[in-house]
Amino acid sequence: MAVSGLPPYDESNVFARILRGEIPCRKIYEDEHALAFHDIHPQAPVHVLVIPKGPYVSFTDFSAHATNAEIAGFFRAVGTVTRNLGLEAKGYRLLANMGADSHQEVPHFHVHIFAGRPLGRMLPAA
Ligand code: AMP
Repeated sequence: MAVSGLPPYDESNVFARILRGEIPCRKIYEDEHALAFHDIHPQAPVHVLVIPKGPYVSFTDFSAHATNAEIAGFFRAVGTVTRNLGLEAKGYRLLANMGADSHQEVPHFHVHIFAGRPLGRMLPAA
């Protein structure tokens, strides 16, 4: 099912280039469906990005067009990363930006994992 209003996938986005090995990343996990690496501008002591290997612009695109295996594989990878990092005891936050109002910068679906300090309330005051 196509979703209207989504931009086409841009093969030159920075995460596509990381997946192709054209630019480096500080990788912490990889499997068939996902790659996890440290954010280049960390906003918490732990700030990791998990990206699917397929060409999906955003969560909307991923949730509508990825296969069940890709979706399950991706979210299991997010859980594997949080467990491998030992984040359960003190907690963590998952965040996925989608589109302009969310300030999504990189048009390849990704989940941020934040941890390592008290993270405050969900959103800053408007
Ligand atoms: P978003 O605003 O949700 O699209 O977040 C994109 C994130 O990607 C930001 O937190 C950036 O710091 C991060 N980022 C951009 N380029 C790189 C890179 N080459 N390696 C790791 N993280 C990156």
